[in-house]
Amino acid sequence: MIKRNPSIANIKAGYLFPEIAKRRREYAAAHPEANIISLGVGNTTEPILPHIDAGLVNGAKRLSTAEGYSGYGDEQGLTGLREKIAEVIYQGKVKSEEVFISDGAKCDIGRLQLLFGAGIPVAVQDPSYPVYVDGSVLIGAAGAWAGTGYGGISYLPCTAENDYFPDLSLIPENGLFYFCSPNNPTGAVANREQLGALVAAALRKGSVIIYDAAYAEYIRDPALPKSIYEIAGARTCAIEVNSFSKPAGFTGVRLGWTVVPLELSYASGEKVNADWNRICTTIFNGASNIAQAGGLVALESEGLKEIRELCDFYLGNAKLIRQALRELDITCVGGDNSPYIWARFPGRDSWEVFAEILEKCQVVTTPGAGFGPAGQSFIRFSAFGHRTDVEEACKRLSKLRITTDHTD
Ligand SMILES: *Cc1c(COP(=O)(O)O)cnc(C)c1O
Repeated sequence: MIKRNPSIANIKAGYLFPEIAKRRREYAAAHPEANIISLGVGNTTEPILPHIDAGLVNGAKRLSTAEGYSGYGDEQGLTGLREKIAEVIYQGKVKSEEVFISDGAKCDIGRLQLLFGAGIPVAVQDPSYPVYVDGSVLIGAAGAWAGTGYGGISYLPCTAENDYFPDLSLIPENGLFYFCSPNNPTGAVANREQLGALVAAALRKGSVIIYDAAYAEYIRDPALPKSIYEIAGARTCAIEVNSFSKPAGFTGVRLGWTVVPLELSYASGEKVNADWNRICTTIFNGASNIAQAGGLVALESEGLKEIRELCDFYLGNAKLIRQALRELDITCVGGDNSPYIWARFPGRDSWEVFAEILEKCQVVTTPGAGFGPAGQSFIRFSAFGHRTDVEEACKRLSKLRITTDHTD
């Protein structure tokens, strides 16, 4: 018989969201009358706005015409879209040949790991978006599970004590550091000074930053950087991934991009950009032409207005959730420049608090421990939801009396 890939065997069972779904199903089965509201998963809920949707529709319609039909396109994406991203998102700080269009940021994060393989040290913010760690395990870059984390992966705590920004002296040498800002799950956004220190640390250590900017369009404070390339030196140490999923509601449409600067090279001197091009052309066949047609109009001025409107809507939800938590005297961060609110329950186990909120309020949240050991006494509230559901959830939360150990 064929033998199982030992790296797959190494991955810990019970991925966070299936476990949450299971607990929700069990609760619903025991309480069939309950109207459960989810502030749990990071999935968009609101319709795609008309100008951007027309771009998708027109992209599909063109396929039925002899002049408009297109089959396989360039694996790197439509030249026009690469140029538009370089111009509109990066205002010329990035060249179009450094932009690679993808079917989403998560997929690219998985494929990016092929660039470096199994033989490198990996560091993540703790807590973090699960694909950084799980993808590293799949590629064989992690050791065995050791109770709260994998061997060979450095978990850099981001807690209330350090204002949710890690101790950069813990970044390994000649390795990869995954950094997400605005952060999922904490909602924290790194400022210019912090990102300057991050880039300086990566350059000093000879490490590469994988910068996940999937929530950049949620930044409302003009002083906060939206891209790592706003920081001097980032072009020699950082790869940036981004996506239309959260700003334009493209979670189901599937469209993202990755920037690999031409100045980024390996110890050998060879260019990372050339290898990324090779990976994209070898095991990826390009993003959907319909999705790319939507991406092109999303970056027109009317599309950008719709992106702003959609993000503002979710930020409005975030504000309601934050207010509800503050009234309960629950400490939280995030939600002002990001769609996530990270609430602190000192001395409590996050799965226990998750169960208590589900029991008392019929509201599904995400237990912080699912994002890493430092998430243990936190709950993530997601602002993705219909307004009426969020309002109802907040009303129910206001009745909540969660006990916390304030001596913590
Ligand atoms: C949702 C999300 C993404 C987006 O993934 P897509 O594959 O583009 O839908 C990427 N990173 C983080 C941190 C996310 O929360």
